[in-house]
Amino acid sequence: MNNILSTSETKDFLRRGFTRRSLGKLATVITAGATLPFYSEHAMAQLSMIGPLPADAVKINANENPMGPCPEAAEAIYSVVKSGGRYMYEETFTFAKTLAEQEGVKPDHVLPFAGSSDPLHRAVLAFTSPTKSLVMADPGYEAGARAAEFVGSKVIRVPLAKDFSHDVKAMVAADANAGLIYLCNPNNPTGTLTKRADIEWVVANKPAGSILLLDEAYLHFSEDAAGTDFVAKGKDVVVLRTFSKLYGMAGLRAGASIARPDLLAKMRPYGAGALPLTGMVGAHASLKHKTLIADRRKLNKQIREDLFSWLSKKNFSFMPSESNCFMLDAKRPAGELVRLMAAEKVFIGRVWPAMPNHSRITVGTADEMEKFKKALLKVNA
Ligand code: PLP
Repeated sequence: MNNILSTSETKDFLRRGFTRRSLGKLATVITAGATLPFYSEHAMAQLSMIGPLPADAVKINANENPMGPCPEAAEAIYSVVKSGGRYMYEETFTFAKTLAEQEGVKPDHVLPFAGSSDPLHRAVLAFTSPTKSLVMADPGYEAGARAAEFVGSKVIRVPLAKDFSHDVKAMVAADANAGLIYLCNPNNPTGTLTKRADIEWVVANKPAGSILLLDEAYLHFSEDAAGTDFVAKGKDVVVLRTFSKLYGMAGLRAGASIARPDLLAKMRPYGAGALPLTGMVGAHASLKHKTLIADRRKLNKQIREDLFSWLSKKNFSFMPSESNCFMLDAKRPAGELVRLMAAEKVFIGRVWPAMPNHSRITVGTADEMEKFKKALLKVNA
């Protein structure tokens, strides 16, 4: 057994129904975090690829932001690099303080991480077990379920509702002993929203002892309200934020978990250590930028809507989205379309078993989407 877990943590996991065998796997998730090959979005996207990408490839398969960090974040990163011989924990604290102020929660309600994969895994470890399930949408972002299945926790997948929002009634009814209800708004891969009233209903009606994990990785691409007010009101809600999407910092790594201190305390063990200074100062500078969210949201929407009207005109079927990704109906096993597009150097995907004829497409730059359109016409000619 990896000595990353203390004796009391080990006892706690055994008490929750994990076997000794699964404890080693728990330790693997904790120590490998977001770098474990099958856990990151990028790695999952790579599953459909062979070899390195050509230089002129259009890479719209991993919900990345081709714009990268805003100039202010890049500047903050350049100027801190020379000080990188020091831990500079204070940069993490000031980032957390600014995020807390902006979200209307106390500073001790924000726990920074290098991205949001890490706190997503920790939430799974902290709040699920072989008897306390992870309840999630299908199709949904798979990382939580993969972590849960890897360590032996129960996973229940609930199909999205007819309008592709989370079927909150079915999710809450799925398991009276649920540990974690995972709701991603907007959802990945569909880019669809779940109404605020439905999220409020989950908070009010979820099984006693369960936690709502609200993943807001893509929130800023939509006009929807954040769920951090649930945290401010003391509810059993953990909100995840990342700087990998709208803020364009996927490779720079910054994120946070926002929740009541007693819930964060359950996710804090196992030691995160110092966080990357570059990620922290870049995230802080991004938060201080007054128009970044509105500017990038507007641009993403323009490109997305232009693409949607083109797809409609050309009689392609797709699912309307409020995010930087959407599902395109390939009208055949979508893996085939992924392969044909890759031959045109346009890398799309991936495909979810629940929607085998659909491929997820990331909204890239206007120029990238022009190349996407051209390739799509060619492979469908
Ligand atoms: N949550 C969702 C819904 C995602 O799509 C992703 C990555 O794409 C993550 C969390 C984790 O991303 P990161 O660790 O880069 O913050």
